[in-house]
Amino acid sequence: MVVGYTLVVHYNGTDMFKETDSRLEHCPACGFRTDFFAHNPLYRQVRKRRSDLLCTYDHAPIVTQAFRTFCLDNNYPGVRFLEFKNDPDHFHLLVDNVISFNARKRRTRFIDFCPVCENYKAVIGANPTYLEVDGPLPDGMYRSDLYFATGNAKSPLLIVGCATKDKMEGAGLKGLIFEEAYD
Ligand SMILES: [Zn+2]
Repeated sequence: MVVGYTLVVHYNGTDMFKETDSRLEHCPACGFRTDFFAHNPLYRQVRKRRSDLLCTYDHAPIVTQAFRTFCLDNNYPGVRFLEFKNDPDHFHLLVDNVISFNARKRRTRFIDFCPVCENYKAVIGANPTYLEVDGPLPDGMYRSDLYFATGNAKSPLLIVGCATKDKMEGAGLKGLIFEEAYD
């Protein structure tokens, strides 16, 4: 059964942090980044893009004023928009509502566990999305408990309810790509 939709997010051609940035913490054992939600207040998405949701090469979701306004108008809980000092038109989207991804059902592969930072070097296999939920997700935004992809560019999936997808499309948000998520 379809319980919601995963948002497929394309790159916007920028980095939230360069890997040499001294503000980033790295694990002393595996050497990879430990905070996958780190915020750089000096970040700028210089070029205007047609999509209201894109992400940096290091997987930080960046949204427009229109996306933020849509979420605020709908009073979605657990959704935050961090600001950038030099770019008032964009925001760093953080979603606090965590849903368990069903890795067993998807046969997701976990590669090279690090016992120090407790992350994997890589987590491969997010598509199709299987979630451990009892039924369709309520209207709102969610993220997976697992961080997918490799190395310093790992991130959770962004997931929305079925009603949320309809509302987003009805509100005219641009460039959003939805893939079905199953229980
Ligand atoms: Zn580590």
